[in-house]
Amino acid sequence: MSNLRELYQQVILDHNKSPRNFRVMVDPDRSSEGHNPLCGDHLNLYVKLKDDRIEDIAFHGAGCAISKASASLMTDAVKGRTLQEAESLFGKFHDLVTSDVSSPPDTDGMGKLAVFSGVREFPVRVKCATLSWHTLLAALENSSQPVTTE
Ligand code: ZN
Repeated sequence: MSNLRELYQQVILDHNKSPRNFRVMVDPDRSSEGHNPLCGDHLNLYVKLKDDRIEDIAFHGAGCAISKASASLMTDAVKGRTLQEAESLFGKFHDLVTSDVSSPPDTDGMGKLAVFSGVREFPVRVKCATLSWHTLLAALENSSQPVTTE
């Protein structure tokens, strides 16, 4: 468990310093905007689709280390996946970060996203960790409403 906590620190720091897929996409098929007023996190998400698959994905914005690292890892995790796979991964991720701290985290099939089980210990940070995922869902649903975690 302490290994996972160390890994959590490392991964957050790494992805905060050099986020993956961090750019503005000029011709996305879908885009959405997310905002977490509680912390001040703000991001724009861009998706390029091919049939029902996420061919390319990018994000841009400003926020705390957790929101940025989470968006970075999220974009890496869903790139190349079908919409259905992305939605089911979001469900697993949400369950992971909101599950009870007293039970071992269910990280099956989560890959690097597993380190976010560390967020369970900081409930106020759950919104930072899930912001990019909610924004992704809004983009995939083609919602024009900005996402807010409030
Ligand atoms: Zn935040």
